[in-house]
Amino acid sequence: MYHHVSPETGPITMSPKNFESQMKGLVDEGYTTLTCDQFADFLAGKPTPPKSVLLTFDDGYLDNWVYAHPILKKYGLRATIFVVTGLIGEGPVRACAEQGADALPRLPSHLECRALWAVGSTDSAMLRWSEIQAMREAGTFEFHCHTHTHTRWDQVSKTREECLAHMRKEFEASRALLKDNLGEVSQHFCWPQGYFADDYVSLAQEYGFRYLYTTEAYGQNLRASNPSKIYRVAVKNRSARWFLRRIWIAGHPVVGPLYNKWRSWKRKLRG
Ligand SMILES: [Zn+2]
Repeated sequence: MYHHVSPETGPITMSPKNFESQMKGLVDEGYTTLTCDQFADFLAGKPTPPKSVLLTFDDGYLDNWVYAHPILKKYGLRATIFVVTGLIGEGPVRACAEQGADALPRLPSHLECRALWAVGSTDSAMLRWSEIQAMREAGTFEFHCHTHTHTRWDQVSKTREECLAHMRKEFEASRALLKDNLGEVSQHFCWPQGYFADDYVSLAQEYGFRYLYTTEAYGQNLRASNPSKIYRVAVKNRSARWFLRRIWIAGHPVVGPLYNKWRSWKRKLRG
């Protein structure tokens, strides 16, 4: 699970240098990067290469186009972005790192991005539909749903009914925009801030989302495992060495579950 790839520092931000190191590491070690549908096939028991990973990005930041897209293209890899459809802008494609450093748009840090969301001025922080289209055509990124506004309705609604009514609107608005702009809506969906509950899951399924991506890291996505609870590992802003070791641990049939148990236990101790 990635968010930003940017020279700006801050939370959930990976430097372009470390991102490139991680991508080169995948290529050097012979990994295949899956599409979400290939990952769904894996869950359904269809064959996938033994060294397979699914790279996901959340929210749809402009820096994904500026830095992550050219690096994926260079290494022939692919990834997924879960976009918040209400934050995506209109207008022409902006420059990306392929055009050289002088031409690049100024990229806000993660905290600046969130401040821009709060005042409804998201164009300088988030992707445009034209950039999404360009990345789809290049085969670097595919795009799936991450709600329309990224609001934690469970925290701001007076009742659960009100909360679920808001979530219905989220699903409806985001599905409509994805359909208009991409021509299709997939079955893959990612929870804002990782929050979900049983009624949320039922609602997402009612709207056609079968594969639900969480921010829970301490479990394994295995063949025949539950597609409504997909685990993801948050990447660190570190080089290929850390990244490849973390992937190895996550996928190992013995080490993986032991590591997950240990980390869950440590988390419980911290409260
Ligand atoms: Zn998000």
